[in-house]
Amino acid sequence: MNPSPALPANFNEFVGNAPAVDSLRTAIAAGRLPHSLILAGPAGAGKYTLALMLTMTVECLRQPRDLWSNGQALATFCGNCANCSRILTAANLEEQVAAAVAAREELRETDKKDTRVLIQPHPDVLIIPPDPPQLLIKLGQVRTLIQHAHYLPAEAPRRIFILTAASMMKEAANSILKILEEPPETAHILILAENVGELLPTIRSRCAIVRLGALPVEEIEMLLADRRPEVPPQQRALIARLSQGAAGRALSFDLEAYTAARADAIIFLRNAAAAVQESTGGRAAEPDHSALFKMTETYRAGAEGQQKTVALLRAFALLLEDMLLIEAGTPELVRNTDLRPELTRFAQALPFRWIEQATHALDQVHAGMRRNLLRSLSLDAFAGQLASAVAP
Ligand SMILES: [Zn+2]
Repeated sequence: MNPSPALPANFNEFVGNAPAVDSLRTAIAAGRLPHSLILAGPAGAGKYTLALMLTMTVECLRQPRDLWSNGQALATFCGNCANCSRILTAANLEEQVAAAVAAREELRETDKKDTRVLIQPHPDVLIIPPDPPQLLIKLGQVRTLIQHAHYLPAEAPRRIFILTAASMMKEAANSILKILEEPPETAHILILAENVGELLPTIRSRCAIVRLGALPVEEIEMLLADRRPEVPPQQRALIARLSQGAAGRALSFDLEAYTAARADAIIFLRNAAAAVQESTGGRAAEPDHSALFKMTETYRAGAEGQQKTVALLRAFALLLEDMLLIEAGTPELVRNTDLRPELTRFAQALPFRWIEQATHALDQVHAGMRRNLLRSLSLDAFAGQLASAVAP
Protein backbone atom coordinates (compact mmCIF):
# COMPACT_ATOMS: atom_id res chain seq x y z
CA MET A 1 0.00 0.00 0.00
CA ASN A 2 1.20 3.48 -0.79
CA PRO A 3 2.64 4.88 2.46
CA SER A 4 1.94 8.55 1.64
CA PRO A 5 -1.18 8.76 -0.47
CA ALA A 6 -1.55 11.95 -2.45
CA LEU A 7 -4.85 13.75 -2.56
CA PRO A 8 -6.83 13.71 -5.82
CA ALA A 9 -5.64 16.68 -7.92
CA ASN A 10 -9.21 17.94 -8.35
CA PHE A 11 -12.83 17.01 -7.66
CA ASN A 12 -13.21 15.13 -10.95
CA GLU A 13 -10.69 12.65 -9.60
CA PHE A 14 -12.63 12.11 -6.39
CA VAL A 15 -14.51 8.96 -7.31
CA GLY A 16 -18.07 8.33 -6.20
CA ASN A 17 -20.73 10.22 -4.24
CA ALA A 18 -20.98 12.98 -6.87
CA PRO A 19 -24.32 14.46 -5.70
CA ALA A 20 -23.07 14.89 -2.12
CA VAL A 21 -19.75 16.36 -3.27
CA ASP A 22 -21.41 18.75 -5.73
CA SER A 23 -23.83 20.04 -3.12
CA LEU A 24 -20.96 20.78 -0.72
CA ARG A 25 -18.99 22.59 -3.45
CA THR A 26 -22.06 24.61 -4.40
CA ALA A 27 -22.50 25.56 -0.77
CA ILE A 28 -18.89 26.72 -0.51
CA ALA A 29 -19.21 28.78 -3.72
CA ALA A 30 -22.25 30.48 -2.22
CA GLY A 31 -20.52 31.01 1.14
CA ARG A 32 -23.03 28.69 2.80
CA LEU A 33 -20.94 25.74 3.96
CA PRO A 34 -22.50 24.67 7.29
CA HIS A 35 -20.36 25.67 10.27
CA SER A 36 -21.07 22.34 11.98
CA LEU A 37 -20.96 19.44 9.57
CA ILE A 38 -20.89 15.66 9.90
CA LEU A 39 -19.45 13.65 6.99
CA ALA A 40 -20.85 10.17 7.54
CA GLY A 41 -19.95 6.95 5.75
CA PRO A 42 -18.14 3.62 6.00
CA ALA A 43 -14.36 3.30 6.18
CA GLY A 44 -12.89 3.86 2.74
CA ALA A 45 -15.72 6.07 1.48
CA GLY A 46 -13.27 8.98 1.31
CA LYS A 47 -14.42 11.03 4.29
CA TYR A 48 -10.98 12.30 5.23
CA THR A 49 -9.90 12.86 1.64
CA LEU A 50 -13.04 14.86 0.96
CA ALA A 51 -12.71 16.82 4.21
CA LEU A 52 -9.20 17.87 3.25
CA MET A 53 -10.28 18.80 -0.29
CA LEU A 54 -13.15 20.87 1.08
CA THR A 55 -10.75 22.54 3.50
CA MET A 56 -8.45 23.51 0.63
CA THR A 57 -11.46 24.77 -1.30
CA VAL A 58 -12.51 27.07 1.54
CA GLU A 59 -8.97 28.26 2.26
CA CYS A 60 -7.55 28.51 -1.29
CA LEU A 61 -6.13 31.95 -2.01
CA ARG A 62 -7.18 31.77 -5.68
CA GLN A 63 -10.75 30.59 -5.07
CA PRO A 64 -11.24 28.99 -8.51
CA ARG A 65 -14.75 27.98 -9.66
CA ASP A 66 -15.99 25.29 -12.06
CA LEU A 67 -18.93 26.74 -13.97
CA TRP A 68 -21.70 24.52 -15.25
CA SER A 69 -23.72 25.30 -18.38
CA ASN A 70 -26.78 25.94 -16.22
CA GLY A 71 -24.92 28.76 -14.51
CA GLN A 72 -24.22 26.81 -11.32
CA ALA A 73 -20.82 27.58 -9.78
CA LEU A 74 -18.90 24.86 -7.93
CA ALA A 75 -16.01 25.89 -5.74
CA THR A 76 -12.66 24.12 -6.11
CA PHE A 77 -9.00 24.60 -5.13
CA CYS A 78 -5.80 25.44 -7.00
CA GLY A 79 -3.57 22.99 -5.12
CA ASN A 80 -0.55 25.30 -5.43
CA CYS A 81 -1.10 28.44 -3.35
CA ALA A 82 0.46 28.89 0.08
CA ASN A 83 -2.70 27.67 1.82
CA CYS A 84 -3.44 24.70 -0.46
CA SER A 85 0.11 23.40 -0.41
CA ARG A 86 0.33 23.50 3.38
CA ILE A 87 -3.03 21.79 3.87
CA LEU A 88 -1.93 19.12 1.37
CA THR A 89 0.84 18.06 3.74
CA ALA A 90 -1.81 16.49 5.99
CA ALA A 91 -2.74 13.93 3.32
CA ASN A 92 -0.71 11.17 5.00
CA LEU A 93 -2.61 11.45 8.25
CA GLU A 94 -1.82 7.98 9.60
CA GLU A 95 1.92 8.56 9.40
CA GLN A 96 1.67 11.96 11.04
CA VAL A 97 -0.47 10.69 13.88
CA ALA A 98 1.93 7.78 14.42
CA ALA A 99 4.84 10.23 14.55
CA ALA A 100 3.03 12.52 17.01
CA VAL A 101 2.15 9.59 19.27
CA ALA A 102 5.70 8.23 19.12
CA ALA A 103 7.08 11.69 20.02
CA ARG A 104 4.76 11.81 23.01
CA GLU A 105 5.99 8.37 24.14
CA GLU A 106 9.46 9.89 24.47
CA LEU A 107 8.27 12.51 26.96
CA ARG A 108 8.44 12.28 30.74
CA GLU A 109 5.32 10.75 32.31
CA THR A 110 4.18 14.10 33.73
CA ASP A 111 4.41 15.83 30.33
CA LYS A 112 2.76 12.96 28.45
CA LYS A 113 -0.53 13.54 30.23
CA ASP A 114 -0.80 17.12 28.99
CA THR A 115 0.33 16.49 25.44
CA ARG A 116 -2.52 16.35 22.97
CA VAL A 117 -2.25 14.60 19.66
CA LEU A 118 -3.12 17.27 17.09
CA ILE A 119 -2.06 17.77 13.49
CA GLN A 120 -1.78 21.35 12.30
CA PRO A 121 -0.74 21.59 8.65
CA HIS A 122 -1.68 25.29 8.50
CA PRO A 123 -2.12 27.90 11.26
CA ASP A 124 -5.87 27.94 10.61
CA VAL A 125 -6.42 24.21 10.11
CA LEU A 126 -6.45 21.80 13.03
CA ILE A 127 -6.93 18.05 12.61
CA ILE A 128 -8.01 16.13 15.68
CA PRO A 129 -7.58 12.33 15.60
CA PRO A 130 -8.83 9.96 18.29
CA ASP A 131 -6.14 9.76 20.95
CA PRO A 132 -4.55 6.37 21.75
CA PRO A 133 -4.65 4.08 23.61
CA GLN A 134 -8.42 4.45 24.08
CA LEU A 135 -8.75 5.93 20.58
CA LEU A 136 -11.25 8.52 21.73
CA ILE A 137 -11.31 12.26 21.18
CA LYS A 138 -10.40 13.71 24.54
CA LEU A 139 -11.39 16.79 26.49
CA GLY A 140 -7.98 18.42 26.09
CA GLN A 141 -8.23 18.17 22.32
CA VAL A 142 -11.71 19.70 22.28
CA ARG A 143 -10.54 22.49 24.61
CA THR A 144 -7.78 23.36 22.15
CA LEU A 145 -10.35 23.39 19.34
CA ILE A 146 -12.60 25.79 21.27
CA GLN A 147 -9.68 28.06 22.10
CA HIS A 148 -8.52 28.23 18.47
CA ALA A 149 -12.05 28.66 17.13
CA HIS A 150 -12.49 31.91 19.01
CA TYR A 151 -9.50 33.54 17.37
CA LEU A 152 -9.89 35.15 13.98
CA PRO A 153 -8.20 33.23 11.17
CA ALA A 154 -4.54 34.21 10.76
CA GLU A 155 -3.73 33.52 7.12
CA ALA A 156 -6.82 32.00 5.53
CA PRO A 157 -10.46 33.01 5.18
CA ARG A 158 -11.68 30.60 7.88
CA ARG A 159 -10.53 28.39 10.72
CA ILE A 160 -11.30 24.75 10.00
CA PHE A 161 -11.34 21.86 12.45
CA ILE A 162 -11.55 18.23 11.36
CA LEU A 163 -12.39 15.58 13.96
CA THR A 164 -11.36 12.40 12.20
CA ALA A 165 -13.61 10.14 14.27
CA ALA A 166 -16.92 10.33 16.08
CA SER A 167 -15.86 8.44 19.20
CA MET A 168 -15.38 10.92 22.04
CA MET A 169 -14.89 10.81 25.79
CA LYS A 170 -18.05 11.90 27.55
CA GLU A 171 -16.60 15.22 28.76
CA ALA A 172 -15.26 15.96 25.28
CA ALA A 173 -18.68 15.37 23.72
CA ASN A 174 -20.38 17.58 26.30
CA SER A 175 -17.83 20.29 25.80
CA ILE A 176 -18.07 20.37 22.00
CA LEU A 177 -21.85 20.74 22.18
CA LYS A 178 -21.78 24.42 23.00
CA ILE A 179 -19.49 25.44 20.19
CA LEU A 180 -21.48 23.36 17.71
CA GLU A 181 -24.56 25.23 18.78
CA GLU A 182 -23.10 28.66 18.18
CA PRO A 183 -19.93 28.25 16.13
CA PRO A 184 -18.03 31.49 15.48
CA GLU A 185 -18.75 33.01 12.04
CA THR A 186 -15.18 32.31 10.97
CA ALA A 187 -15.01 28.66 12.03
CA HIS A 188 -16.09 25.37 10.46
CA ILE A 189 -16.13 22.12 12.43
CA LEU A 190 -16.20 18.87 10.44
CA ILE A 191 -16.82 15.57 12.20
CA LEU A 192 -16.04 12.38 10.26
CA ALA A 193 -18.27 9.55 11.42
CA GLU A 194 -18.32 5.90 10.44
CA ASN A 195 -21.29 5.41 12.66
CA VAL A 196 -23.41 8.51 13.28
CA GLY A 197 -25.13 6.67 16.13
CA GLU A 198 -21.91 7.01 18.13
CA LEU A 199 -22.56 10.75 18.45
CA LEU A 200 -24.86 12.20 21.09
CA PRO A 201 -28.29 13.01 19.62
CA THR A 202 -27.72 16.58 20.78
CA ILE A 203 -24.53 16.76 18.68
CA ARG A 204 -26.26 15.28 15.65
CA SER A 205 -29.13 17.72 15.87
CA ARG A 206 -26.74 20.69 15.83
CA CYS A 207 -24.92 19.58 12.68
CA ALA A 208 -25.73 19.23 9.01
CA ILE A 209 -25.17 15.59 7.99
CA VAL A 210 -23.83 14.59 4.56
CA ARG A 211 -23.67 10.86 3.83
CA LEU A 212 -21.09 9.13 1.66
CA GLY A 213 -21.38 5.53 0.48
CA ALA A 214 -18.70 2.91 -0.23
CA LEU A 215 -18.29 2.09 -3.91
CA PRO A 216 -19.57 -1.19 -5.33
CA VAL A 217 -16.88 -3.66 -6.41
CA GLU A 218 -17.88 -3.30 -10.08
CA GLU A 219 -17.38 0.46 -9.97
CA ILE A 220 -13.91 0.06 -8.49
CA GLU A 221 -13.03 -2.51 -11.16
CA MET A 222 -14.06 -0.01 -13.83
CA LEU A 223 -12.03 2.71 -12.17
CA LEU A 224 -8.98 0.43 -12.12
CA ALA A 225 -9.47 -0.52 -15.78
CA ASP A 226 -9.46 3.19 -16.57
CA ARG A 227 -6.61 4.36 -14.32
CA ARG A 228 -4.40 1.28 -14.01
CA PRO A 229 -4.87 -0.46 -17.37
CA GLU A 230 -1.42 -2.06 -17.03
CA VAL A 231 -2.76 -4.30 -14.23
CA PRO A 232 -4.16 -7.57 -15.66
CA PRO A 233 -7.97 -7.93 -15.35
CA GLN A 234 -7.76 -10.83 -12.89
CA GLN A 235 -5.58 -8.79 -10.56
CA ARG A 236 -7.90 -5.79 -10.93
CA ALA A 237 -10.80 -7.97 -9.80
CA LEU A 238 -8.80 -9.06 -6.78
CA ILE A 239 -7.67 -5.51 -5.90
CA ALA A 240 -11.25 -4.24 -6.20
CA ARG A 241 -12.38 -6.75 -3.58
CA LEU A 242 -9.39 -6.31 -1.29
CA SER A 243 -9.77 -2.53 -1.17
CA GLN A 244 -13.25 -2.89 0.33
CA GLY A 245 -15.09 -0.10 -1.45
CA ALA A 246 -12.31 2.47 -1.10
CA ALA A 247 -11.35 4.08 -4.39
CA GLY A 248 -8.15 5.69 -3.11
CA ARG A 249 -6.98 2.46 -1.55
CA ALA A 250 -7.69 0.56 -4.78
CA LEU A 251 -5.74 3.02 -6.94
CA SER A 252 -2.64 2.84 -4.77
CA PHE A 253 -2.97 -0.85 -3.89
CA ASP A 254 0.36 -2.66 -3.99
CA LEU A 255 -0.72 -6.20 -4.80
CA GLU A 256 2.81 -7.58 -4.66
CA ALA A 257 3.39 -6.30 -1.12
CA TYR A 258 -0.03 -7.53 -0.07
CA THR A 259 0.57 -10.99 -1.52
CA ALA A 260 3.89 -11.22 0.33
CA ALA A 261 2.28 -10.24 3.64
CA ARG A 262 -0.56 -12.66 3.01
CA ALA A 263 1.83 -15.54 2.31
CA ASP A 264 3.32 -14.96 5.76
CA ALA A 265 -0.14 -14.75 7.35
CA ILE A 266 -0.98 -18.12 5.80
CA ILE A 267 1.93 -19.70 7.68
CA PHE A 268 0.04 -18.83 10.89
CA LEU A 269 -3.06 -20.57 9.55
CA ARG A 270 -1.15 -23.61 8.38
CA ASN A 271 0.55 -23.92 11.75
CA ALA A 272 -2.68 -23.57 13.70
CA ALA A 273 -4.48 -26.06 11.45
CA ALA A 274 -1.70 -28.59 11.99
CA ALA A 275 -1.87 -28.00 15.76
CA VAL A 276 -5.62 -28.62 15.75
CA GLN A 277 -5.25 -31.87 13.88
CA GLU A 278 -2.50 -32.95 16.23
CA SER A 279 -4.62 -32.18 19.31
CA THR A 280 -7.59 -34.09 17.95
CA GLY A 281 -5.45 -37.13 17.22
CA GLY A 282 -5.51 -36.67 13.49
CA ARG A 283 -2.56 -37.96 11.56
CA ALA A 284 -1.88 -34.67 9.90
CA ALA A 285 1.50 -33.24 9.13
CA GLU A 286 3.52 -31.98 12.10
CA PRO A 287 3.22 -28.25 12.66
CA ASP A 288 6.13 -26.81 10.70
CA HIS A 289 7.81 -24.68 13.35
CA SER A 290 10.86 -24.00 11.24
CA ALA A 291 8.79 -22.32 8.50
CA LEU A 292 7.17 -20.16 11.15
CA PHE A 293 10.49 -19.33 12.75
CA LYS A 294 12.10 -18.46 9.42
CA MET A 295 9.19 -16.16 8.63
CA THR A 296 9.00 -14.32 11.96
CA GLU A 297 12.76 -13.84 11.89
CA THR A 298 12.42 -11.59 8.84
CA TYR A 299 10.34 -9.14 10.88
CA ARG A 300 12.82 -6.83 12.52
CA ALA A 301 12.41 -4.01 15.00
CA GLY A 302 12.24 -0.42 13.83
CA ALA A 303 10.03 1.52 11.47
CA GLU A 304 10.37 -0.84 8.51
CA GLY A 305 9.60 -3.92 10.58
CA GLN A 306 6.68 -2.08 12.10
CA GLN A 307 5.20 -1.35 8.67
CA LYS A 308 5.74 -4.95 7.59
CA THR A 309 4.07 -6.19 10.77
CA VAL A 310 1.05 -3.95 10.23
CA ALA A 311 0.71 -5.28 6.66
CA LEU A 312 0.95 -8.87 7.93
CA LEU A 313 -1.72 -8.32 10.58
CA ARG A 314 -4.02 -6.59 8.08
CA ALA A 315 -3.70 -9.50 5.65
CA PHE A 316 -4.30 -11.96 8.48
CA ALA A 317 -7.47 -10.09 9.52
CA LEU A 318 -8.80 -10.26 5.95
CA LEU A 319 -8.10 -14.00 5.80
CA LEU A 320 -10.00 -14.55 9.06
CA GLU A 321 -12.95 -12.52 7.76
CA ASP A 322 -12.97 -14.53 4.55
CA MET A 323 -12.99 -17.78 6.51
CA LEU A 324 -15.99 -16.50 8.47
CA LEU A 325 -17.74 -15.68 5.18
CA ILE A 326 -17.12 -19.25 4.02
CA GLU A 327 -18.42 -20.65 7.31
CA ALA A 328 -21.47 -18.41 7.02
CA GLY A 329 -22.28 -19.99 3.68
CA THR A 330 -21.50 -16.86 1.62
CA PRO A 331 -18.27 -17.82 -0.17
CA GLU A 332 -19.16 -15.45 -3.04
CA LEU A 333 -18.33 -12.54 -0.71
CA VAL A 334 -14.76 -13.72 -0.09
CA ARG A 335 -12.25 -10.97 -0.94
CA ASN A 336 -9.17 -13.17 -1.40
CA THR A 337 -10.86 -14.74 -4.42
CA ASP A 338 -7.66 -16.37 -5.66
CA LEU A 339 -7.35 -18.36 -2.42
CA ARG A 340 -10.93 -19.56 -2.08
CA PRO A 341 -10.14 -23.33 -2.22
CA GLU A 342 -7.32 -23.02 0.28
CA LEU A 343 -9.37 -20.82 2.63
CA THR A 344 -12.23 -23.32 2.44
CA ARG A 345 -9.85 -26.04 3.60
CA PHE A 346 -8.68 -23.87 6.50
CA ALA A 347 -12.27 -23.05 7.42
CA GLN A 348 -12.96 -26.78 7.61
CA ALA A 349 -9.81 -27.55 9.60
CA LEU A 350 -10.09 -24.74 12.14
CA PRO A 351 -13.15 -24.60 14.41
CA PHE A 352 -15.25 -21.45 14.55
CA ARG A 353 -14.05 -20.89 18.10
CA TRP A 354 -10.47 -20.72 16.90
CA ILE A 355 -11.32 -18.00 14.37
CA GLU A 356 -13.07 -16.10 17.13
CA GLN A 357 -10.09 -16.36 19.45
CA ALA A 358 -7.66 -15.46 16.70
CA THR A 359 -9.72 -12.34 15.97
CA HIS A 360 -9.62 -11.47 19.65
CA ALA A 361 -5.84 -12.00 19.80
CA LEU A 362 -5.48 -9.75 16.78
CA ASP A 363 -7.50 -6.98 18.45
CA GLN A 364 -5.24 -7.21 21.49
CA VAL A 365 -2.13 -6.95 19.37
CA HIS A 366 -3.55 -3.85 17.67
CA ALA A 367 -4.38 -2.28 21.01
CA GLY A 368 -0.87 -3.07 22.25
CA MET A 369 0.72 -1.50 19.20
CA ARG A 370 -1.37 1.64 19.61
CA ARG A 371 -0.23 1.94 23.19
CA ASN A 372 3.38 1.69 22.26
CA LEU A 373 4.17 2.17 18.62
CA LEU A 374 7.88 1.77 19.09
CA ARG A 375 7.80 -1.62 20.74
CA SER A 376 8.19 -4.36 18.20
CA LEU A 377 5.60 -7.06 18.39
CA SER A 378 6.71 -10.57 19.22
CA LEU A 379 5.30 -12.51 16.30
CA ASP A 380 6.51 -15.77 17.82
CA ALA A 381 4.44 -15.14 20.93
CA PHE A 382 1.46 -14.24 18.76
CA ALA A 383 1.86 -17.44 16.75
CA GLY A 384 2.09 -19.44 19.99
CA GLN A 385 -1.14 -17.86 21.16
CA LEU A 386 -2.85 -18.79 17.90
CA ALA A 387 -1.64 -22.38 18.02
CA SER A 388 -2.73 -22.85 21.64
CA ALA A 389 -6.19 -21.33 21.03
CA VAL A 390 -7.46 -24.75 19.99
CA ALA A 391 -7.47 -26.88 23.12
CA PRO A 392 -10.99 -28.33 23.45
ZN1 LIG B 1 -5.03 27.28 -3.58
